[in-house]
Amino acid sequence: PKRIVLILGDQLDLNGAALRGFDFKTDEIVMIESIAEAQYVWSHKAKIALFLSAMRHFAIQLKELKYPLTYIKDSPLSIVEALKEKLIKKGVTDLICVEPGEWRLKQQIEELAGELSLRLEMREDDHFYCSHQEFLEWVADKKELRLEYFYRLMRKRHNILVDNQGNPQGGQWNFDQDNRKSYSKKGPGIIESPVLFEPDSATKEVLEFVNDTYPNHPGSLDHFRWPVTRAQALEALDYFVEYRLRNFGVFQDAMWTDTPFGWHSILSSSLNLKLLNPREVIAAVLQAWKKYSLDLSTVEGFIRQILGWREFVRGMYYLDMPKMAQDNYYDHQRALPKWYWTGQTNMACMKDAIGQTLQYGYAHHIQRLMVTGNFALLAEILPKEVCDWYLAIYVDAIEWVELPNTAGMALFANGGRFTSKPYIASGAYIKRMSNYCGSCQYKSDVRFGEEACPVTTLYWNFLIKHRSQFESSPRTKLMTANLKRISDEDQKSIVEHADHLLTHLNDL
Ligand code: FAD
Repeated sequence: PKRIVLILGDQLDLNGAALRGFDFKTDEIVMIESIAEAQYVWSHKAKIALFLSAMRHFAIQLKELKYPLTYIKDSPLSIVEALKEKLIKKGVTDLICVEPGEWRLKQQIEELAGELSLRLEMREDDHFYCSHQEFLEWVADKKELRLEYFYRLMRKRHNILVDNQGNPQGGQWNFDQDNRKSYSKKGPGIIESPVLFEPDSATKEVLEFVNDTYPNHPGSLDHFRWPVTRAQALEALDYFVEYRLRNFGVFQDAMWTDTPFGWHSILSSSLNLKLLNPREVIAAVLQAWKKYSLDLSTVEGFIRQILGWREFVRGMYYLDMPKMAQDNYYDHQRALPKWYWTGQTNMACMKDAIGQTLQYGYAHHIQRLMVTGNFALLAEILPKEVCDWYLAIYVDAIEWVELPNTAGMALFANGGRFTSKPYIASGAYIKRMSNYCGSCQYKSDVRFGEEACPVTTLYWNFLIKHRSQFESSPRTKLMTANLKRISDEDQKSIVEHADHLLTHLNDL
C-alpha cells in the first residue's frame, strides 16, 4: 500500500504519533503551506511567519533524517484541496495523520478519506495528558464541568505534586490567593527578559516572504524572536525555569505599561506547535522547584495552567464543537471596534494590550481575559468577530485552545458551561492590577459622563441590564449587590452614557 503521512503545521514533533511505525520503503510524508489557510482569518504577520518558519525548519530536519517528504510551498489551495490533489496523483490507499487541532479540518479530512475511499488512521495527539476517552469518562457523571475537579484528578492520576496518599503537596490544591499580586507602585523592577532568538537565514526568508505576500495583514515582524525549532524551544524552557519561574506565580495577573511578557513563560507557541511536550515542561518545572527551592505556590500556579487549563479547554473543545463556535448566550451582535486591529484608542489599557499584541503577537492571560476580552463582552460584540480576532492575532492561537478561552471563558457565550459566572470587571480592577489608568484620559472610578472610564460605564450597564438574571442564580447573586449603592438617577445616567458608547465604539 502507498501510505501518506500528513503532518500539519502545528504537529512538528519527530517523536510524535504521526511518524510512529513509519516505513521508509512505502511511506511518504506530506507537508503543505497553504495561502488560503493564512487568510482564513486576517492573521497577524508574526503568526503566519512563525508557522511557516517552524514548518520549514522541521522539513529540513526530516530531510536530514532521510524521510521521503513532499513539501508543498505557497499553495493557493486549502490544505485539504492540496492534499486531495496529491493523494489522487500518487494513487494512495492509506492516509495517516494526527488529529488536527481544528474541528473543521478534522471533518474535512474525514470527508476526503470517505470520498477517495482511503483507509484513514487519525491518531490521537500525544501532546496532551488526557485522552478524549478519559475526558468523556470524567464528564459522564458531572453535573457541573469545572476546571478545579478535573485538575485534581489529573494531579492524582499523573502523580504530580501529590503525596503517597494522593493528597496535595503543601496541604492545598490551589494557591490562587498567593498568585494575584500587582507590581509595586514603583513598577515591576527588573524582570529577566525571556530568551529571544535572532532570525536565521531560513526565518529571514520567511519574514521577507510574509511581508511581500501579506503586506496588509495586521501586526509587525520587527520583533520576531520566537523559537522556531525544538532546540530553541528547549532553550527557552531551560531559561524560563532557571530565571523567570520564581516570580511567575505571584505576578501572574499583574500588568504594566511596556512590560509585554511580565514573568510569564512565553512557551505557548512552542507547546502548541508541538516543539515541546507538556510532560517535559512539567518535569523541568518540578526539577527547578527542588533545585532552586522555589515557592510551591509559583510551581503549583504554573502546573495548573498546563496540566489543568490546557488539558481542560481542549477536552471542552472537542466535547462541544461545532456548537461552541456558534453559541451566543447574550445574543450580542455588535461589530468589533476597528481599533482592535490598530491599537488606536484612547483607553490606555486597551492601547497597551493591543499595541504589544500587534508588535509581538503576544499578550498574557490577564490582558487577554480582563482587558480585551472583558471589554468585548461588556461592549456586546458578536462572539464570532471576537473569536476571529483572537484566532488571527496571537502567535499561539489554534482553535482548540483559542475558542474555548474566548467564547467560553472571556465572553460567556456558552452561558457558563464551564465557568460559574461571567468574568467581568470595571476599571477599578484594571487600576488595581496595573499602572494603565495613571496615563489614561478616562477615570476608572467615574461611572458616566465625558471623563468616565468606558470599561466602568459598560460594566455597570451590563449589571443593570442583566440584574434580574444575575439575582436569580446563587452563583451570580452577589455580583449585583453593589448596585444598591448607586441611586436610580445615577443608574439612569449610566445606561444613557453606555448607550452612547455602544453606538460609538469606534470613537473610544
Ligand atoms: P503562561 O502564563 O506562562 O502559562 C503557561 C502555559 O500554560 C501556557 O504556555 C499555556 O500553554 C498554558 N495555559 C495557560 N493558560 C491557559 C488557558 N487558559 N488555556 C489553555 N492553556 C493555558 N492560549 C493559547 O495557547 N492559544 C490561544 O489562542 C489562546 N487564546 C486565549 C484567548 C483568551 C480570550 C484567553 C483569555 C486566553 C487565551 N489563551 C490562549 C490562554 C493564555 O492566555 C495563553 O496560553 C497564555 O497567555 C500564553 O502565554 P504564556 O506561554 O506566557 O503562558
